[in-house]
Amino acid sequence: MDRNAWWEGSVGLCAELIRHDTQIGGPGERKATEYAAEILSDAGLSPVIVESEPGRASSVTRVPGADPSLDPLLIHMHLDVVPAQAHEWSVPPLSGEVRDGYVWGRGAVDMKNMAAGVLTVVSDRMRTGRLPRRPLVLAFLADEENAGVLGAEWLVRERPDLLEGCHTAIGEGGGWSIPVGDGRRIYPVHTAEKGWAALQVKASGVPRHASRLTDANPVRILGEAIGRLTTDRFPVHLTPEVEVLLRRICEVGGVDFDPEHPEAACALAGFEQANLLSGLRNSAHATRLSAGYQSNVIPGEATAELDARYLPGRWEEFLEELGAALGDEVEVSELARTVGLTPTSTSGESRIWEASRAALRSEDGVAEVSPFMLSGGTDATHLQRLGIECFGFNPILLPPDLDFWSLFHGIDERVPVESLHFSTRVLDRFFDLY
Ligand SMILES: [Zn+2]
Repeated sequence: MDRNAWWEGSVGLCAELIRHDTQIGGPGERKATEYAAEILSDAGLSPVIVESEPGRASSVTRVPGADPSLDPLLIHMHLDVVPAQAHEWSVPPLSGEVRDGYVWGRGAVDMKNMAAGVLTVVSDRMRTGRLPRRPLVLAFLADEENAGVLGAEWLVRERPDLLEGCHTAIGEGGGWSIPVGDGRRIYPVHTAEKGWAALQVKASGVPRHASRLTDANPVRILGEAIGRLTTDRFPVHLTPEVEVLLRRICEVGGVDFDPEHPEAACALAGFEQANLLSGLRNSAHATRLSAGYQSNVIPGEATAELDARYLPGRWEEFLEELGAALGDEVEVSELARTVGLTPTSTSGESRIWEASRAALRSEDGVAEVSPFMLSGGTDATHLQRLGIECFGFNPILLPPDLDFWSLFHGIDERVPVESLHFSTRVLDRFFDLY
């Protein structure tokens, strides 16, 4: 390969990772982890593979730094993906096809792209003796798409020794370009994440003949309760992590920021608008329903499962809002929950801001960075328990007409080839600067 275009290897690698079927819970996760570990072994490194359960494999690899006295930087990634229904796609979702300037397939943006970029950078650096400024710890963590129970959560509990010495991490969830104003771009680096919970809502009654006149029907009661879970039931809360990005967008866009109407600032962010709006409110969506066993019997119980997303550190406040919306005829119980990610006091001062901005500017002269809160969740929620400060930084320059967020867990997931080259080069630069 032409030495000047070493980063182009990230495209073939991304496609190959997509062809490894790592749909969550399937048999492919171990094979994909071994494949990535083999690349690192070939580069002269010594990956350690561990399993929380048979086949549920994670790997951790230490990369030497030019200055071994510096703390290592953890880079956390996952190779598992959410399932894809082939009939809904324009290409076979596990094909890794390269077409029309994109690499297509499940995992192309979440997050085999970053995995391919990091593997490409580290392999080239080891081959050419260009050590990163500080040591790196590369972690490919299992089960991220199931809240990391058998991956990051397990590793933090059972094998924290593998991450010893790490105080800072980068991972997915931030770093893509938002076009703002007249040809400027902001790359949000995430420092906070909403918390997630799976909740059960239950309405109870007495089973009876469906010919009786009654309003005491658990199905009706449940339906009315979850029917009230509309967006406007959850008021706007402007948290500092969201405000800082909205102010930056307004500043770059040349508009005044109005804290009374933060939604107006979200509208300046194009496709990013929906994502930013999610950062202003708690939410709860009914995603599963269960009731009844015969059409002429009123059942004794009806249940719904909710996917809840709450602003970090505000669980009690969320429960009050939820209770007010559901009313007092139903019972709520918690099935599972993560705490999200709350920024530490050092966020915003750290060297990471200078390094990420300079690395981006080396490839995109108008790049600005800003902290922000991710409305989804990542393995950072587990890693913070080890005192590791986590940042979402997967640098991607996007074409302005691409609705990037719709591709996450969506159909026709794909990443522009040029964006993959860009992120590989920016990560390479970042490892010299941070
Ligand atoms: Zn992901």
